[in-house]
Amino acid sequence: MKLYKTELEIGFKHKEFLVESDTLDLKNFLEEIRCVLSSDKVSSGYKIYGFVDTLASLKCDRCLVIFENEFQVKIDVILSNNNELIKESSSDVLRFLDSDDFIDLTSILIESIIIELPIKKLCKDECKGLCASCGVDLNNNSCCCKKSQSINQLSELKQLMK
Ligand SMILES: [Zn+2]
Ligand SMILES: [Zn+2]
Repeated sequence: MKLYKTELEIGFKHKEFLVESDTLDLKNFLEEIRCVLSSDKVSSGYKIYGFVDTLASLKCDRCLVIFENEFQVKIDVILSNNNELIKESSSDVLRFLDSDDFIDLTSILIESIIIELPIKKLCKDECKGLCASCGVDLNNNSCCCKKSQSINQLSELKQLMK
């Protein structure tokens, strides 16, 4: 996603950008990416801020079902040619030289989205997952594994008591 110096010079407010998820290399789990960004000229360069709305298709860690997860990522970066500032700050300052005609924000978008992806992916907090012995999805079905196991234990116990 490119921003041109000409538009940065003028500045913009709540401008909408639609980015194809395959151009971000995130198409495995993202369906659409909508960015709403603003840009202001600041003393050190340009400030870009706003948010990214994404809809991710994630696989539940417990029941393996694919579910959709909508989330918003905040974007807040400074574009600057000030080396001191770039060194001092973390990744929030991007190098933008006077000779640059545009800046590509793609990698910043990818980074910001990946950081926000949930580490533990659950379709719902109370997901019951799959039965360890027969593999049935315990959210929609019940299986007899546990029951028959306890019956077996009971009969074994009875055997012992004889
Ligand atoms: Zn689940
Ligand atoms: Zn089972």
